[in-house]
Parts: sequence; C-alpha cells; structure tokens
Amino acid sequence: MMKNIAVLPGDGIGVEIVAQAVKVLNCLQTDFGLEIEMEEGLVGGSAYDETGSPLPEATLTLAKKADAILLGAVGGYKWESLDIAVRPEKGLLGLRSELELFANLRPAILYPQLAHASSLKPEIVSGLDIMIVRELTGGIYFGQPRGIRTLENNEKQGFNTLIYKESEIERIAHVAFETAMKRDKRLCSVDKANVLECTELWREVMIRVSKDYSEVELSHMYVDNAAMQLVRAPKQFDVMVTTNMFGDILSDCAAMLTGSIGMLPSASMDKNQKGMYEPIHGSAPDIAGQDKANPIATILSVAMMLRYSLGSEALAIKIEKAVEDVLNQGLRTADIYTEGDKLIGTEAMGDAVVAALKAL
Ligand code: NAD
Repeated sequence: MMKNIAVLPGDGIGVEIVAQAVKVLNCLQTDFGLEIEMEEGLVGGSAYDETGSPLPEATLTLAKKADAILLGAVGGYKWESLDIAVRPEKGLLGLRSELELFANLRPAILYPQLAHASSLKPEIVSGLDIMIVRELTGGIYFGQPRGIRTLENNEKQGFNTLIYKESEIERIAHVAFETAMKRDKRLCSVDKANVLECTELWREVMIRVSKDYSEVELSHMYVDNAAMQLVRAPKQFDVMVTTNMFGDILSDCAAMLTGSIGMLPSASMDKNQKGMYEPIHGSAPDIAGQDKANPIATILSVAMMLRYSLGSEALAIKIEKAVEDVLNQGLRTADIYTEGDKLIGTEAMGDAVVAALKAL
C-alpha cells in the first residue's frame, strides 16, 4: 500500500544529509518495490525566513497527513537572536507536541569498525547496543508554571515545573517494555525517586506496568548513577527508559560512546506507530554547505522509519547492511575518519550507501 512521507530538510546540514537519505528512499522505490510518495515542506529557520513562522500551517498539515516524517535538523547562528517564540527549535518542538510524538527511541550502537573512534577504551564499548526510550512531550520541558519572575527584593527568580500524569508515564512505559520484548528483555528505568516526588510516581507506575510484561526484567537506577554507569560499563544496559530531560542528557552521553553523533538515528513515535525520524545531531552550522556532514545518521533514521512506521523490517535490515558494507570498504566522512581510511564527503557517502544497497 502506498505510504506518504513528509520530507522536512530544515536548516544547515539538514538539507545536505536529507538529500542523501532521499537518494536511499528513491533506490528502495526503483530497485526494491517500496511504494512511497514523498512531499517536501519547510521547517525551522528556513521556514521562518520564507513565511515568518518556524512551523508554517502548510508544513503541519503535511506532517499530520503523512504516515511518517523524515526530518534533517533545524537552527543556526542566523536565527539565534530571534524571539524565542519564533526560533527554529520551536518548529521542532511544535511538531513533536502537535503530533503527540511522546516516545523518543534512540539507539546507541557501536559499529566494530569505529571502535577506535569512541572516547572510551575499545573493550568497554565494542559490541555496544543500547536503546534509550525518552519521554518527549512532558516533564520539565513543557511543565507549567514556568518563567523568570522578580521577587519583592528585586532579585530575579527562574522557575520550571517537573510534572507527569500517571497516564503519560504509563504510555511511555508500554513503549519501553514492548521495545525490551523485541530485544534482550531487560529494562532499566532511570529516575531520581530519592529526591523528586514526580519520579517517585514514575517508579511506582513502571512497577505497575511491569506486571503486564513478566518476561522483562525491570530494574531502577538513579540518574546520577546511570550517567556514571554509562561511561563505566555501558554494555550492562539493554533498554533504558527515562523522563524528557534525563533522556536528553543521557542519550547524548550514550551517543558519544559510539564515536560520532553523525552515526546515530532516532525515532519519535505517537501511539499509532506514526513517527518522525531524524538524526540526533543538530544543523551543524560550522560545517554546513561544505559537503563534510556525515549522512549516515539520517540514512539509518530511514531504516528506523521502515521498521517502525512502514512495516518493512526486511528493507530496514538492508539499509543497515549497506551502511556496514560501506564502513567495511573503509569509506569515512571527516567526523569518523582516522588515518588509513578513505576520506569522502556527504554526497559521496550517500552514493556509496546506494551503491552498496544495489549490490545486496
Ligand atoms: P550540532 O549537533 O549541530 O553540532 C555539534 C558538533 O557536531 C559540531 O561540531 C558539528 O559540526 C558536529 N556534527 C553534527 N552533526 C554532524 C554530522 N552529521 N556530521 C559531522 N559532524 C557533525 O549541535 P550544536 O552545534 O550544539 O547546534 C547547532 C544548531 O543546531 C543550533 O542552532 C541548535 O539549536 C540546533 N540543534 C538542532 C537539533 C535538531 O534539529 N534536532 C538538535 C540539536 C541542536
């Protein structure tokens, strides 16, 4: 059945890397029978420049009617001084909340070919395969009240609210347990239940939901310990589930274990498996327009799209295999390059993955 994909390149390197992912999708159409239609939309700073909004109505409509969304990245120096309400990042946050993409899945996988690119010793990270499930539409990033107020003594006070309803915790818990069921059946829930009541409730709900998944071994860890364990012995983890802010921080930490954020995809899902797929990195304005960006994270995001929203595990595996083949050929963009490798640019990396796909 024909599926509709909204393609939102965004800003900076977003444009360059999404172009490579689209090449891969085109190849899947022509050579592997994937039935899709793609339609492009504006988001972020480029959308603001053209329409005055980082999330124009037309883009929101396009995203709502699509079966899946492929996003590059948003942001850049040019828009940093804009009012916060129209900054590029608002486009992204708007998409996440309007589409109720509450579950963020971020795998951190270390390809053996890149073990030396990690900041940790190869024996600690080699074979690493973690999935972090981050709650994405609640918690302190969205909680009200929030702001900066002036106290009676004229001192300013900043405040935010960490808030979760049971139903919000329950739905992310189900995603995490389901994810664990498809993997090694071990789930670690990360909280700060010793200090924050909100995460005391988080822990209580995780334990309650665990009764539906007797095959999954549930454990709990305080976030400070989890940060330490991620760099001490990361391979102890299979699936981790946590709140919006803790997940934001821990998933970047896990990402670095794998050598480069240019390698890591992500999926943000709603309750019906509709998802937005994007690399975990930003728009990298420092290298934008220079054919230097690594497109692999975006290409692997397409693999996640096929697996989770388009129901094609077989094609997802093909993309992942093609990426491995390219790495085995020694081809590297600058972020994962070490002496002896063959240094190539964004375009050439996209072409190499397509060639490897065709050769499968
Ligand atoms: P960034 O992820 O864009 O870049 C961090 C560093 O990693 C830079 O040195 C960059 O060159 C490098 N890098 C990132 N992706 C790469 C790739 N594919 N290949 C090679 N190198 C890569 O983070 P930042 O510099 O903190 O932010 C830049 C802009 O991106 C800001 O405007 C920020 O708000 C935005 N941002 C957007 C998203 C998103 O769209 N999801 C996420 C994070 C940051």
